[in-house]
Amino acid sequence: MKVTCYGGVREIGGNKILLEEDGAALFLDFGLPMGRAGEFFDEFVQPRTGSHLRDSLSVDLTPRLDGIYRSDLVCRPDVIDQAELPTDAAPLFDAGVRDYEEVLQAEGRARASAVLLSHAHLDHVGQVGYLDERISLGCTPVTRTILTVMEELLPQRIDSEALTVRRRVMDTASERARFPGAPTIKTERIHREVVTLAEYGEVTVGGFRVEALPVDHSLPGCCALLITAPSGKRALYTGDLRFNGRWSRGEGNLTERLRSRTRNLQPELLITEGTRIRSEHADDESAVRRELTEVVAGSPGLVIFDWAWK
Ligand SMILES: [Zn+2]
Repeated sequence: MKVTCYGGVREIGGNKILLEEDGAALFLDFGLPMGRAGEFFDEFVQPRTGSHLRDSLSVDLTPRLDGIYRSDLVCRPDVIDQAELPTDAAPLFDAGVRDYEEVLQAEGRARASAVLLSHAHLDHVGQVGYLDERISLGCTPVTRTILTVMEELLPQRIDSEALTVRRRVMDTASERARFPGAPTIKTERIHREVVTLAEYGEVTVGGFRVEALPVDHSLPGCCALLITAPSGKRALYTGDLRFNGRWSRGEGNLTERLRSRTRNLQPELLITEGTRIRSEHADDESAVRRELTEVVAGSPGLVIFDWAWK
């Protein structure tokens, strides 16, 4: 089994881990590297809508990989084919990577067949929308529900296109376009295949056997992934987890079940990440709940909540 990390190394999140064996290949998460993204983009300075992937590739927020990305985001042939386009402007409209279909045609098989999601935080799912819709998604039912809500709440954002790709298709030139005579762009909604991961049960995804082990994190539906390659070799990917949250309390809690399932596992590979491993201070949402209660109790009138999802 070959393992390559295209993100998430020496940084928080942005995980994109490629597992390959005998022509079978799948990704573990395909997230947005939020720390690095913050060096280039901000609330009102974002990649351009029609050039999202190309902008992201140009500042190395997304790996230059052939055979995984959507053709409509890689290249704008309608612009490239125009004779008057200066040659040094071509990279603005052509990412210079081969899209999914191109590699499938040339090599007779897809570069990767699926992405397995550990959970629905942006730094683990935020760039799935760049991937060709034929790359399926494996996730827990709760993660799927969260992604559906994101899609409904944030319909204009590419980071909410994990489940449904809004493929950009050139339409005929129109005098009524914003630039008269220019082609207009239609969007076609295409649903990505979703494989529901079974908790403590195995399903087969892209030639690998996968078992989802629920974990305690700051979002419902999070899981570690136990992956068995065609050769029988196993990798355990923990995703994000903690041992001191609300799902780590009480009899039969998630952390206890995870411990008993993994106690004698001895996989060939353990992939994990830690952001506060050395911290002595146990920080979880019970302190947040306490502080919020104090604030609300001390407020004389109406209290309005906002919730930032990331
Ligand atoms: Zn997370």
